[in-house]
Amino acid sequence: MELYAHHPYWLIKDGIVNSYTSLDGSISTDIAIIGAGISGALAAYALRNDGLSITVLDRRHPGMGSTAASTAFLQYEIDTPLTKLREYVGEANAVKSYRLCRDAIYELAAICKKLHPAFDFHIRPSLHYASFKSHKKDLYREYQLRRANGFDVNWLEAEDIQHMFGFDAPAAILSADGGELDAYLLTHALLKVVERRGHRIFSNTNIRDIAHKKRRITLTTDSGLVISAKKLIIAGGYESLKYIPRKIADVHSTYALVSEAIPEKYLWHRNSLVWETANPYMYFRIVNKDRILLGGKDDDFHHSRIPDVRIKAKTSMLLHSFSQKMKRIPIKADFSWAGAFAVTKDGLPYIGAIRERPNTYFALGYGGNGITFSAIAAQIIRDAILNKKNPNTGLFGFNR
Ligand SMILES: Cc1cc2nc3c(=O)[nH]c(=O)nc-3n(C[C@H](O)[C@H](O)[C@H](O)COP(=O)(O)OP(=O)(O)OC[C@H]3O[C@@H](n4cnc5c(N)ncnc54)[C@H](O)[C@@H]3O)c2cc1C
Repeated sequence: MELYAHHPYWLIKDGIVNSYTSLDGSISTDIAIIGAGISGALAAYALRNDGLSITVLDRRHPGMGSTAASTAFLQYEIDTPLTKLREYVGEANAVKSYRLCRDAIYELAAICKKLHPAFDFHIRPSLHYASFKSHKKDLYREYQLRRANGFDVNWLEAEDIQHMFGFDAPAAILSADGGELDAYLLTHALLKVVERRGHRIFSNTNIRDIAHKKRRITLTTDSGLVISAKKLIIAGGYESLKYIPRKIADVHSTYALVSEAIPEKYLWHRNSLVWETANPYMYFRIVNKDRILLGGKDDDFHHSRIPDVRIKAKTSMLLHSFSQKMKRIPIKADFSWAGAFAVTKDGLPYIGAIRERPNTYFALGYGGNGITFSAIAAQIIRDAILNKKNPNTGLFGFNR
């Protein structure tokens, strides 16, 4: 399965940050983690000081799965609006999920600050605009529900949007709590800290087989090496679906581009994250202070390889839609790519255990907020492994 195609910006910008060798002998560990993307890295980081040995294994280089392709919007607003999510999981759980995502943004901010005071992380407002006049009523209901539950949101009318952002839209919710980061760089920074604590990280090591024995789990690599572990965390992104005996998500394709640099005069209100109510939606933000990151045009195309011609067509569509909206900004694509993207029935991730795989925990941040979900997963799984009670365990469980 190809997790992305073409040229994700971060891979080119950051290059090879750190490299790790492949496994060259059978080993024993307290915790094995399959996947050295942002989910595996955050889980390993959360557990690094708990006196348990950790081994992180990846078939690719760290961060070179979906993490490298991520556009890394950090939003507490998941793809399912709060008004809709409450129909799936009840109002209390829906609000709790939104609050946990909001808290995860600040948790990620704190982690980044601890890694390096100047780490490339920014809190940004998030603008959710109505794509059509007919969407305004539902968006206003969403605003009221969020406001009633203590979220820091403001309602903008068309003239406010024109004044602050320079484009036409019937109305919008402006949320104070959003963020952005470089997920590929963060993954490497987390793994470096984990390695420095004496834990082991291996790249180019594919786990071919997982066997659950009485007290231990054995993982077998392509070359027949065995990792014997007491606990297993599966953070293998969209390639983890095969480890679950029932369907929990559909895999789609999503498209993104980073523009050539634009003059500062074209930037908008506090470099906000911007997205719309249409489905599929377009979203954009500023990256590297002077480029526009633009994404969307999702479709249910999914094959092992996304052809270049499809990426070209989607790039043109994205540029066209953006130019229709932001007429004043001349935009040209510099890098474009596509990635696999998993969608769940309610927009929430799957975090936790299944009966069929004892001593195993899944960190599957499927949905539009994969990175904030990964931060939540790290805490829930850490508590489960350390036998600590976590009030949020059931929220994202497989039996919800
Ligand atoms: C184009 C695009 C835009 C996105 N935009 C956003 C966004 O704006 N905000 C947001 O929050 N999220 C976004 N996402 C989603 C987010 O990027 C993902 O949720 C996140 O990167 C998933 O991280 P992960 O560590 O779970 O998976 P991955 O990064 O894919 O890491 C999993 C790793 O597991 C390894 N692996 C799998 N199976 C095995 C095996 N058997 N043996 C060894 N290794 C294995 C893989 O090689 C891979 O490196 C976007 C995704 C895409 C593609």
